Amino acid sequence: VKDRGRAHFRFFREEMNHSFPNEALMESHLRRAIEMDELYIHYQPQVNLKTGQINSFEALLRWDNKTFGFVPPSQFIPIAEESGLILQLGDWVLEKVCHQLQEWQQKGYHHMRIAVNISPKQFKQETFSFYVESLLAQYQVSPEALEVEITESAMTNMRETLTVLNSLKKIGVVISIDDFGTGYSSLSYLKRYPIDIIKIDQSFIRGIETDEKNAAIAKTIIQLAQNLGMEVIAEGVEKLLQVDILKEANCHKAQGYYFSQPVSMNEVIARYFA
Ligand code: C2E
Ligand code: CA
Ligand code: CA
Ligand code: CA
Repeated sequence: VKDRGRAHFRFFREEMNHSFPNEALMESHLRRAIEMDELYIHYQPQVNLKTGQINSFEALLRWDNKTFGFVPPSQFIPIAEESGLILQLGDWVLEKVCHQLQEWQQKGYHHMRIAVNISPKQFKQETFSFYVESLLAQYQVSPEALEVEITESAMTNMRETLTVLNSLKKIGVVISIDDFGTGYSSLSYLKRYPIDIIKIDQSFIRGIETDEKNAAIAKTIIQLAQNLGMEVIAEGVEKLLQVDILKEANCHKAQGYYFSQPVSMNEVIARYFA
């Protein structure tokens, strides 16, 4: 057990390439991240492939710790999930985004939407849809401006999932399936649940220009979404060749480094609201 512990410890340090010496310390710093004002949100534009227009962004959480520096979400989100801290962080992100949407709407940008990642724990909270509804009311934001991104891993219990999704649908927020195709659920949930958008996972977009299997999978998902009357977004688009293939396949939107990295709200406003 000792050896395994050490191996894990070493692996963790290498992967981190930052200086949190262990998970426990990271967790204790994460616990104070909100009050220490260390969290912020970056936004990545989603580009309409037909028109080139941008009217939606994905909100991505960022953490810059005062002592140990920047920590990527791939490192702190799993620890937030395990410890339950994700509930506070998730609420914080949702509130910040609603505040941002309120600002846009007050300036007349009613057609702009922000998508928020919802962790499985957050989604499974009984109060989740009430929280969303109360935030929209508090900030006087129209529900279509808010999108919730849910992964297949959150949909473990069918009745529970259906109840939450139906409540969200009734409120009027946009519902998307994140990382589509990477989970274990069956396709039948696409007909059972009120889903508006499918996000094709970036693992299927990578190498789409050379890898015939990935190209076939991506095109099939696009077709499937269209046949079901859903919107489809390709994630992780990095090359013009990939854009061309997605356009050809009539994919609605794309998101990725080819268009833009996730950027600060100031940058979003300077670039897209000028
Ligand atoms: P995700 O939801 O699948 O988000 C997409 C990730 O891909 C983001 O990483 C984004 O920066 C990155 N990305 C965007 N375009 C490209 C590209 O062209 N190439 C490549 N290689 N990557 C690209 P990020 O921001 O590091 O976030 C990682 C994951 O952390 C997210 O994956 C999501 O699962 C989680 N996450 C981030 N913010 C939140 C949050 O507020 N709440 C929750 N629950 N999870 C979050
Ligand atoms: Ca996402
Ligand atoms: Ca994703
Ligand atoms: Ca992902």
